[in-house]
Amino acid sequence: MAEIPCAWCGRTRTVSLDNLSHTYMQTRFSQDIVRGTLTCAFCQKHTLFEMTGNDATYLPGQLYQEDLEPNVPESAREAFEDALKAMLGSCYRGTVALCRSAIEEALDAQYVPGNNLFEKASKAKGTILRDIEFSHADGARVLGRDALHKGKPVSMSEAELAIIITVQLLNHIAERPPYPASQSGPTSN
Ligand SMILES: [Zn+2]
Repeated sequence: MAEIPCAWCGRTRTVSLDNLSHTYMQTRFSQDIVRGTLTCAFCQKHTLFEMTGNDATYLPGQLYQEDLEPNVPESAREAFEDALKAMLGSCYRGTVALCRSAIEEALDAQYVPGNNLFEKASKAKGTILRDIEFSHADGARVLGRDALHKGKPVSMSEAELAIIITVQLLNHIAERPPYPASQSGPTSN
């Protein structure tokens, strides 16, 4: 049995694998892994968690969300949180598609013009996005596109990598001056 606290209000409940019959399971290292979303009866908020066997291995909870800097805009944050829920529901194509959406939202919040992530990332290249961030953003775009429009399967490790890269990109984009002010070089803030 594992103790799973609500990541938001701290109330704890005891969870045993026996009573998780509806949660998707997968096997890794010959132990069942259960990943899920706890919806708290007290505060109604969602806590993501992972158990391996009957141990909490766990608590994504606010992990990753906590890694986002406070200045990441709400629209990007919401798409990213949905990407996390998709990943912990083992929906990896959904994960990469939502990561792509979160990056596009982050650029949109910096007033980068363009109708899609390709146009926005191209516009932001050399200012908001350095070469390394541009290639990460473009990689996320291609992964999301292929998953959605070409039916390409996405592995768990690809989804996890997309999450990590998205955290870095969202934090980077949020701390840059908005477009096109960023074209005139670094500012004092
Ligand atoms: Zn709660």
